[in-house]
Amino acid sequence: MNISELLAFDRAHIWHPYTSTLDPLPVFPVSRAEGVRIRLADGRELIDGMSSWWAAIHGYNHPVLNAAIEAQLHQMSHIMFGGLTHEPAVSLVSKLLPLLPPSMDKVFLADSGSVAVEVAMKMAIQYWQSRGKKAKYHFATIRSGYHGDTWHAMSVCDPVTGMHSLFRGALPIQYFLPQPSVRFHEAWDASAMHPLEELLQAHASDIAALILEPIVQGAGGMYFYSPQYLVEAARLCRAYDVLLIFDEIATGFGRTGKLFAWEWAQVEPDIMCVGKALTGGYMTLSAVATTQPIADWICAGEAGCFMHGPTFMGNPLACAVASASISLLLSYDWQGTIQRIEAQLQQELAPASCLPSVREVRVLGAIGVIEMREPVDMAKLQQRFVDAGIWVRPFGRLVYVMPPYVIRPDELSYLTSNLIKCL
Ligand code: PMP
Repeated sequence: MNISELLAFDRAHIWHPYTSTLDPLPVFPVSRAEGVRIRLADGRELIDGMSSWWAAIHGYNHPVLNAAIEAQLHQMSHIMFGGLTHEPAVSLVSKLLPLLPPSMDKVFLADSGSVAVEVAMKMAIQYWQSRGKKAKYHFATIRSGYHGDTWHAMSVCDPVTGMHSLFRGALPIQYFLPQPSVRFHEAWDASAMHPLEELLQAHASDIAALILEPIVQGAGGMYFYSPQYLVEAARLCRAYDVLLIFDEIATGFGRTGKLFAWEWAQVEPDIMCVGKALTGGYMTLSAVATTQPIADWICAGEAGCFMHGPTFMGNPLACAVASASISLLLSYDWQGTIQRIEAQLQQELAPASCLPSVREVRVLGAIGVIEMREPVDMAKLQQRFVDAGIWVRPFGRLVYVMPPYVIRPDELSYLTSNLIKCL
């Protein structure tokens, strides 16, 4: 198939994320990716600013990760996890657990970020059922959050920018709190917790858990908020007998400058979800961790077990590459690398704040956000970025970069300078 045949077939038959089949947004055929370079089928090369949506932290086609997958491929690519176990899963969980909050003890391997969120929510409900509190099956969350596209994950996404009005009546109704009002670097203001306290006072008896993305709200707004919010939220959840779920699917594995975002506040959740960069962006895999007491309560209940078990649970190829990705991350000064990227993003994105169309520029860890005053014309801007040799995918009013950690200073400068030029 030549490029135009490939594009025509794609346009005729293949759905892309959040796109119309009536009027599909353009797509660019990619033939190869290596390091931070994405090679298009027509030979052009783009510097990657997206890490394929937070995932490809080590860049593409990494020899160490390739070798891990290849070695595993010759053993077995998949085997059912019911009644069987294997070294890649055990190796992965033994490397993951020491990186998670100390109270985390039991890990459930799931298929994707959204499924991890479903699993976490099911765990919370089964826990309260076992404790004899069957009315506790609603969830509280904060506005502008994003937790995935499956049913209950969708129900805790922002009710305005998410899909609530579209699926009104069909989605479970949850409790929405205002977005945390104190930003990451701002002085703490205790009144920020009043909405949560009031909600819990009134409804703790039917709330299973508070679920949120710690510190960084990703797809729902690229917003950075105060670690103190987590400290206070954890205190209130404990006081009112509500579990706390941290969705670290986007923030995990160094992106915010800490290995996981909970470390900014040093408060431990009851349940934690990780995904995306877990496999270094090689394939889909997520993990949900919880404490021994919560797991014990879940399994002591009516069902006698946790009621979930997907076909591809603990997929050995995914576990092998995830295990290699964690070792790779810990093998170098990732913290110094993120600090270097953060400083460079701060310096090089700052001039964008002078553009009349820009509302704000903000940077945390290896995340740089340019918030525009008006929503961008995605198709037009995307084409302009590609013509300038960079891969950045804006949405709404947000133009943002979260490059692979392996990006060199000169490559990052190329990315930031062309980004600003295009804007
Ligand atoms: N939670 C968060 C915080 C996310 O950013 C995402 C993905 N953008 C998800 C959950 C869902 O993950 P997935 O797309 O792998 O289902």
